[in-house]
Amino acid sequence: MNLNKLIFTNNACYKAGRKITPRGIMVHSTGANNPWLKRYVGPDDGKLGRNQYNNHWNQPMNREVCCHAFIGKLADGSVATYQVLPWDHRGWHAGGSANNTHIGFEICEDGLSDRTYFDKVYREAVELCAYLCRQYGLTEKNIICHSEGHAQGIASNHGDVMHWFPKHGKSMDTFRAAVKAELAASGNTGSGSGTSQLYRVRKSWGDAASQKGAFRVLDNAKRCADGNPGYSVFDESGKVVYTGKTSAPVYTTYTVKRGDSLWAIASRLLGKGTRYTEIKKLNGLTSNIIYAGQVLKIPNK
Ligand SMILES: [Zn+2]
Repeated sequence: MNLNKLIFTNNACYKAGRKITPRGIMVHSTGANNPWLKRYVGPDDGKLGRNQYNNHWNQPMNREVCCHAFIGKLADGSVATYQVLPWDHRGWHAGGSANNTHIGFEICEDGLSDRTYFDKVYREAVELCAYLCRQYGLTEKNIICHSEGHAQGIASNHGDVMHWFPKHGKSMDTFRAAVKAELAASGNTGSGSGTSQLYRVRKSWGDAASQKGAFRVLDNAKRCADGNPGYSVFDESGKVVYTGKTSAPVYTTYTVKRGDSLWAIASRLLGKGTRYTEIKKLNGLTSNIIYAGQVLKIPNK
């Protein structure tokens, strides 16, 4: 894979700044006969070549479109991949809810009949998917094309890539099999058998069914845990390496007894009478009056 990076900081999608936890990959093709990366990716970095119409996508546009990467031709005719959004940025590629879950990339179409070009971009796409699977703890089963996404109800009604792959004897099934083989060849099936470890996001280590995801990159696992109150990040041995921020306040409870005052409770349970204001706030009390039997939330020390 010839992976390059030119982030579309001037595209409105980048500026929208929303993040996702990638749970899948969506394969697209552009639907236009123009295999040159410079049509979409710019400005020229010396390898892309100059777009004479200056209509690349790294600028304000009249359409809300942006994927995470493009595969196509450099100025010298060789095939390359350009990452144009951070992988965990929410893209505008699916026209449906898959934007919230899927990394999307576009393969630049040519006239659809050149087998040599097809073989090169197909191979480049397989390697890109294997790379992303390793990074995000995904497998080939998490890869779909745009038309499959529509069939699943998570993408708009487009035919890519099934109007193209079959012309060269390929399908999304052959594509997934190729990604699986690529992952196996690199000693990493995305299921934890590789040398680099996976960080798993679960409620507890023993509760495997609660798993939200498995990640190569600890920061991605942490983000997932933060988005799911009560979840933590575990290493391969089951040790907690990160406890997610929970949105619910952490507190204990106390049942008021006859003769208690907020001051006395705070003194006894929190070690300082003046902290009774925290108890008031946590319980939404508008006065200092409490009654026997009342259950109060007590902030943690
Ligand atoms: Zn598409």
